[in-house]
Amino acid sequence: MIKRLGERDLKTKYGTFREVLYYDGQKESIAIVMGDVAGGEDVLCRIHSHCVGAHIFNSVECDCREQMAAAQSMIENEGRGVIIWLDQEAKGNGHLALIESTPFKLAGDPQAVAYQKAGYRADARDYQSAAQIIADLNIASIVLLANDDSKADNLRRDGINVTRTRTLA
Ligand SMILES: [Zn+2]
Repeated sequence: MIKRLGERDLKTKYGTFREVLYYDGQKESIAIVMGDVAGGEDVLCRIHSHCVGAHIFNSVECDCREQMAAAQSMIENEGRGVIIWLDQEAKGNGHLALIESTPFKLAGDPQAVAYQKAGYRADARDYQSAAQIIADLNIASIVLLANDDSKADNLRRDGINVTRTRTLA
């Protein structure tokens, strides 16, 4: 079960968020919250898994940075929302999996297939921490900020009330 360990205000390019750190005994997860979300319905929510390439090394091989910026901007415009960062690099397989899958990707396989050919799962992500954080923040339902619907299905499986998906723009 996840525990809330600490919080503070975090100033960003997209306004000030309340940053809340959670720990499940193995991994940290961080929520940044804007506005009054407690009891809220259709709260804008981005679940964002870690990406070393984009967030540390300015990689141009993915659009994780742009997705984070878009989510923060949409939440700032609405004045309310939450972003949950999860420590699950490379679809939860870890960064080595990303490196080992690269030859398959360069040969033309989609990323999910490339992971499998390298001996990993197509998608090993787990949203139970996110579900517990949303429950801890007492959010009644979310509008998921994502570019495809598959994540919403996985979140619903873990008990999160997802009203709909809204495309990042
Ligand atoms: Zn990325």
